[in-house]
Formats: sequence, C-alpha cells, structure tokens
Amino acid sequence: MDHFTYKSGRLHAEDVALDAIAEAVGTPVYVYSSATLMRHFTVFNIALGDLDALVCFAVKANSNQAVIRTLAGLGAGADVVSGGELQRALKAGVPASKIVFSGVGKTEGEIRAALSAGIKQINVESVPELERISAIAEHMGVTAPVALRVNPDVDAGTHEKITTGRKENKFGIEWTDAHAVYRKAASLPGVKAQGLAVHIGSQLLDLKPFRDAYVRAGDLVAMLRADGLDVEVLDIGGGLGIPYGAEDETDAPTPQDYARVIRETVGNLGVQLVLEPGRMIAGNSGVLLTTVEYVKEGSTKTFAIVDAGMNDLIRPTLYSAYHHIVPVAEPAAGAPLTELDVVGPICETGDTFAKNRRMAPVRAGDLLVLRTAGAYGAVQASTYNTRALVPEVMVMGDAFAVVRPRQSVDDIIALDRLPHWLED
Ligand SMILES: *Cc1c(COP(=O)(O)O)cnc(C)c1O
Repeated sequence: MDHFTYKSGRLHAEDVALDAIAEAVGTPVYVYSSATLMRHFTVFNIALGDLDALVCFAVKANSNQAVIRTLAGLGAGADVVSGGELQRALKAGVPASKIVFSGVGKTEGEIRAALSAGIKQINVESVPELERISAIAEHMGVTAPVALRVNPDVDAGTHEKITTGRKENKFGIEWTDAHAVYRKAASLPGVKAQGLAVHIGSQLLDLKPFRDAYVRAGDLVAMLRADGLDVEVLDIGGGLGIPYGAEDETDAPTPQDYARVIRETVGNLGVQLVLEPGRMIAGNSGVLLTTVEYVKEGSTKTFAIVDAGMNDLIRPTLYSAYHHIVPVAEPAAGAPLTELDVVGPICETGDTFAKNRRMAPVRAGDLLVLRTAGAYGAVQASTYNTRALVPEVMVMGDAFAVVRPRQSVDDIIALDRLPHWLED
C-alpha cells in the first residue's frame, strides 16, 4: 500500500498534488512520501513481532538524509556498503550501535572509519578481509565485532544482475569453508566473531530461496556451537521483493509471509536477528515525475519522449525492470488505451522506460509518473550527457520540501580542471 492516489482527478502524493510539485520544482523530480516510508518500515517491524530483531535499512536503496532520518526516527538501523554510506547514516542520526557494514571490497580507510565510529558489526566477505580487519583493529587497540557473510549457494531466482547467493557470485565466504573460517576468526586477536550473515539477492518474489538459505544458516549456527564457538547474531539480509505492477508479475510475498519463514527457520536459534531490507521499505515510497516533451508518431510506433532519462533512472535499461507509468491527470474511466514507447532524450537506444506499453494517450506537456522509483532510483543517477542530477522532494501530509536541490550544469562543469598548458 502506498500514498500515491488520485484525488479530484489529479495524482497526489499524500495531500500534495503532483502538479504543484512540478510547478514549484520543475521536472524531472523524485517525490517521496513519508507516510509510505514510515508505513512500510512499521509493517515490516510489526510482522517480526516478538522476534529479537534489528531492522537495518539498506541505505544503498535510497541514501537521502531525509529518508534515512525519517526511518532512524522509527528506530531503524542502517546497512551500509561504503565509507560514504557510513558517513551518511551517522550524519542522519543512526546510532553506530545499529549500523552494519557489508560489501566485498572494504578499503583500509573504510574499515578504520567503521572501527572509529564503533559500529555494531562488520560483515566479512573473505579471509584476506578478515585478516586485514584484525590487523587494523589490533593496531587501533580495539576489537572489531564481525560476522562472516556466508554464501549459501542457493539460487534466488531473480534477475542475474541482482542475485548474490550462488557460489559463482563474488559475495561471501563459500558455504563449505565457513566453519574453518569462523574458527580462524575466533582465534584472531583483533576481531570478535559474533555471528553469520547471508544475503542472497534482491527483488525475490519467491520465499523458497529465503527458506533454503535460512535453514542452511541455522544448520551452520548449530555446527559452530557444537564446536564450542559463540554465535550471537544472525544477519539474514534483505531482498524481499515488491510489486512493480507488471501484468505478468508474480505476487510479492507479504512481510507476514516472510516473517513466518523467518520464525520457522531461525526463530528459535537464540540469536539476535539483523534484517537489511532496502527496496521493501523505499521502493513504493517514491515516484519519478516527468514531463512529456514530444509525441513522435513513427510508421510502426508512437514514442512519448519525456524529460527524464536513463541517467535519472537506470533500472529499466540495467535490469530490464518494469515501472508502472501513469498520468498525473486521471484518465476518464473506460477511456480507450493506446500503445506507447516511453523514452528519454539520451543518445542511447537503452534510454527506454517502456516498450509497447498500453496506456492512456498522452500529449506534449502532460505530466507522467514512473511509479516504484523510491529504491535504486536517485541513488543510481549519473550526469551522463551533462544532465544535472534531478531534485528530490519529500512529502508529509499537505507539506513538501526539497530534500536535494537540482544540481546546476555550472556545478558539473566546475568539477573539471584545465591542465596548465591549456589555460589562457
Ligand atoms: C543490496 C543489499 C541489501 C538490500 O537489498 P534489497 O533488495 O533492497 O532489500 C541488503 N543487504 C545487502 C548486503 C545488500 O547488498
């Protein structure tokens, strides 16, 4: 459920008409609904009920300060995957004690920053990383709390670019090596081995891979304990899929269904669970608002050329992702549909948001919304074609605020420097 609905014939974010935002801020613009963000976090948390669980929002899905702070206010922790995200989470007010740090390539500087901040846990992805963390921590005179990210070798059955839990993926320590590596971790002077982590992929619409991975993780916990090793934390990752609205889409599991799998597989292990949902919290909380610049009638197709491009929202071209596209002006009930390709202005054939999409006819100047753009949208934007990063707006009831202003082209050009031999 989200808070983007038609009222009096215009699409609103909560109580704010999207036309009003387009008028005030221009397009393209990302619009986030605080009520939706808070609702998703709360529903997820409530589904976990009495489990000893810490929900750490995966900041890479949407790292705007306003988004992180909104969630931090509800008690969310943060899952970060870079030193930059660590800084963002701390700055937004997430306590270090609720931050976990994942990622396959943590640099020395990033590890130092995490240890200085005193975060809850570093999820370790390889033996060399484990050794590096131990050495840095010893040098700093601290003990690094670590979990081993194990690769449970299950196929998440999702898009190949977002599946992470098969042994041919780069993530985690191979399942069969995990026991030996955990024992090694327990013996290293600079680290405290406190648990395990699994994260098998993103946009999972089937609970079976979660179940398989969690059963494996539970078995491993039992094996480690039988060997006299301490396991206090089990980080079960993120990845729960959400509806994007495609006609052929499988229904997304509810947080309640997901929580049942968690209870049945790892609910009685006597560990603290850490969860790292990103998309599930932020995805349906945001839209990308765009204006139709031209309608171009080809001999076989009609193109709606919009002012947003693949640099603003790369998911369709990167993951063949579907985004539902709706007009801000509510189409009359029963109005005839037409077939459109919705494309951006960028000089790449991949700059296509939808092909042969059946939707209400559009005219130049119309406002359209690409729905479910709150996760992996603004965070993946680039300035390709020297297109400035678009603004982000957050809505709360009948109020809205610009939470990232539109970049200017001057800002972009000012990042360049001429070598001395080209200066006037
Ligand atoms: C990306 C990522 C997540 C979040 O995935 P979602 O599909 O957005 O829930 C969680 N944990 C790790 C380690 C990740 O890399």
